[in-house]
Amino acid sequence: MTMNAPRDLSLDKGLDNGLVLPAPSEGVIFHLLPFAGLLVLALLLPLTGNEYWALIATRAATYWTLVSGLNLIIGYAGQLAIGYVALLTLGAYTTSVLVAGNVSPPLHPFLALACAAVVGAVAGVIIGLPALRLRTFYFAMTTLGFATIVTQIALAWQNVTGGGIGLPGPMLPAPFDTAWGLYYFCLAIAVLCTVMTANLGRSRFGRALIVVRDAEVAAEASGISKPGLFVAVFIFAGAVGAIAGGLFATLQTYITPDAFTFDLSLLFFIAVLIGGRGSILGPLLGTLILTVLPEIAAPLAAWSTFLYAGLLLVIVLAMPGGIAALIDFRNRKPLEKHRAIVPRPGLLGSVIGGAAHGDHLKLAGIVLAFGGVRAIDGVDLDVAPGQVHGLIGPNGSGKTTTLNVISGYYKPEEGSLALGDTVLPQGRPVLRAGLRIARTFQTPRIVGEASVLQNVMIGGGFAARAGFLEALLWLPRQRREEKALAEAGLRALAAVGLENLAHVRSDRLQHSELRFVEIARALMLKPAVLLLDEPAAGLSPDEIERLGALIKAVSRQGTAVLLVEHHADLIFDICDHITVLNLGKVLASGTPADIRAHKEVVSAYLGA
Ligand code: ADP
Ligand code: MG
Repeated sequence: MTMNAPRDLSLDKGLDNGLVLPAPSEGVIFHLLPFAGLLVLALLLPLTGNEYWALIATRAATYWTLVSGLNLIIGYAGQLAIGYVALLTLGAYTTSVLVAGNVSPPLHPFLALACAAVVGAVAGVIIGLPALRLRTFYFAMTTLGFATIVTQIALAWQNVTGGGIGLPGPMLPAPFDTAWGLYYFCLAIAVLCTVMTANLGRSRFGRALIVVRDAEVAAEASGISKPGLFVAVFIFAGAVGAIAGGLFATLQTYITPDAFTFDLSLLFFIAVLIGGRGSILGPLLGTLILTVLPEIAAPLAAWSTFLYAGLLLVIVLAMPGGIAALIDFRNRKPLEKHRAIVPRPGLLGSVIGGAAHGDHLKLAGIVLAFGGVRAIDGVDLDVAPGQVHGLIGPNGSGKTTTLNVISGYYKPEEGSLALGDTVLPQGRPVLRAGLRIARTFQTPRIVGEASVLQNVMIGGGFAARAGFLEALLWLPRQRREEKALAEAGLRALAAVGLENLAHVRSDRLQHSELRFVEIARALMLKPAVLLLDEPAAGLSPDEIERLGALIKAVSRQGTAVLLVEHHADLIFDICDHITVLNLGKVLASGTPADIRAHKEVVSAYLGA
């Protein structure tokens, strides 16, 4: 027993037995307050009657419109899009050219803005697509290249864009044709962008973006497919970026290619970085600071590049979490020091109950080599539903590789894999979630900056039906699904005994707790097959015992559990069947009693 008294075991009977789960989302008011405060300030600004401030504030709203979309790409998806001024340029020219009637009959400014949005959406996808193949700096360079190309076209296509001489920006109709009128219009669009990106950020799409950024294999295991997700985000960011361009042109009243400098691109990028990753409020404040600061400290204007560079250095060195981390007061509260993890296997019925479909997971003659090394060499395995199947063997015997083959990360050279009658598609990890094959990882793959509950909810997102647009607008189906997902997440957390940490940022948890978070995330799939890669590593003896009871209870719900583990006690305690690997081959397979009696196994690992 640990020093903490174990919780009342009567809780194990079910949710109705007095277990009080935390609220699905904590402190909504707390989250909304800063936004409401900013909005009130923005609405009071016209009372100053100072048109100079109207200009600055309109510019800030315009920049934020672009940055709100870019924030999804940089802050959420972690893609270094540094040339995003390209979208501003494209939007500004498209709107101006269409309103001026240089290629078509003159369009109404609103219609021109809508066209710019479409052009921006297409361009957003073109700029974004390399992100699916290129990493970090290479992608950053392609976005920069795109920015150069757009500017060069604006320069060269003289009869349409006016070349170096430029062309007038559009003029919005009344009542938006005054300084304050335009301000209100831009403010409305900026508010809309804030609401939509905040909605998206707290939806399964926002969670999908951050898990792709921080733990791509966990994203795949949860059925999150990167291409579709990225394309949707690039369309959105491209469209709002180009709308921002149209507003920028309106504000400038006249545009030339040199209005769209690299400095501006840098401003957008740094606004997100100083704002902090995975936050809406942070980058919003970042944009406001970077727009307003050079104005109130006039001498700084000439030094803006220097200022940005300085700010960037300070952020990277002193506060890598950015403004968002600075104002994340809730995660300053110290956590209880001695926290015991006490799972409630009795809750599993409400988490994964009725999930099993009674199919065996069968591997036959699987061969996989890395270069010359045959990591697995003709492995057969039959994992039965409702049972715990242990997979043991010395380090490097191919246990993790076997799990990776089952979950689709590796394509075996020979052999077959099937779940019941379904042949598992090889090398397609994102398809495993749909077959309800869930897993945990030898090193936990968790998004440190997201809350524990958010991490767990990632595991259940694949079943949701509400689309990207529904998430942006928080339509009824999205609302319902999100609520159900949060409740399911809390039940899964309660089942593993971590519901009290639901709203804590995951990087504050202990290693052993992360292992249980991963199990909760895997349970969200209502798994037919659960693959566990050394779940007891780093756990205390008490925790191992409770983990064993939990795993056993999962299997008794009908799930086929494949357990890779080093702790012999745990293996022999809870396994119904054990397979021993050595050098990628099956050395022995049978009941725990068979394995204990197996001479070679005993002499090799069990140390008799
Ligand atoms: P275990 O989980 O049983 O400790 P692994 O399945 O991780 O073992 O590894 C089995 C063998 O395959 C080891 O010899 C290991 O070095 C090799 N191996 C595993 N993954 C890779 C990889 N991605 N590239 C090359 N060799 C690998
Ligand atoms: Mg391993």
